[in-house]
Amino acid sequence: MAGFGLLEATGAMIEIIQADITRQRVDAIVNAANESLLGGGGVDGAIHRAAGPRLLEACCVFGGCPTGEARITPGFDLPARWIVHAVGPVWRGGGYGEAALLDNAYRNSLRLALDNKAGVIAFPAISTGVYGYPKEAATRIALRAMQDFESEFERIVACCFSFSDADLYRRIHEETTP
Ligand code: ADP
Repeated sequence: MAGFGLLEATGAMIEIIQADITRQRVDAIVNAANESLLGGGGVDGAIHRAAGPRLLEACCVFGGCPTGEARITPGFDLPARWIVHAVGPVWRGGGYGEAALLDNAYRNSLRLALDNKAGVIAFPAISTGVYGYPKEAATRIALRAMQDFESEFERIVACCFSFSDADLYRRIHEETTP
């Protein structure tokens, strides 16, 4: 029983859900942005539409963002307080440093959220849409980064757009959790 109490006291957890990330009432949501940071399709387009035109104005000042890095803006019309704009790699076969770049995108997002005192952060599956990163490999990278930072957050949400993505995250999370 003492062990159970100890576990509860830490409060940290990774939560895997199927949902639209633009609807998440959390401290920070992560955008799968492109290097221009000026909006695009997929989750990026959905976030820009839901956050309103002030987001584009805020993103303009950055002058872009290199792959693997992240920038932060307010959430504007979103329920989330912050948007962390992370640039994942385009999949080019795996021989172009894609794994390290995707890992950097996750870890830099987590650091930026911590710097801004975000206790609850939600991620989409960065690079697995138009950017074509193989889903299972991307999920392993995402979950490893989340697990490494888990104790520093109140909650880290893996916000999957499809039920099959959420199933994949749950399977790999169970596989990799001691
Ligand atoms: P990338 O260019 O990084 O591949 P995409 O936006 O094309 O970015 O896809 C990244 C992931 O975001 C995909 O798994 C896609 O299904 C998912 N996605 C798209 N719209 C949403 C949304 N509203 N909420 C959460 N995830 C979303």
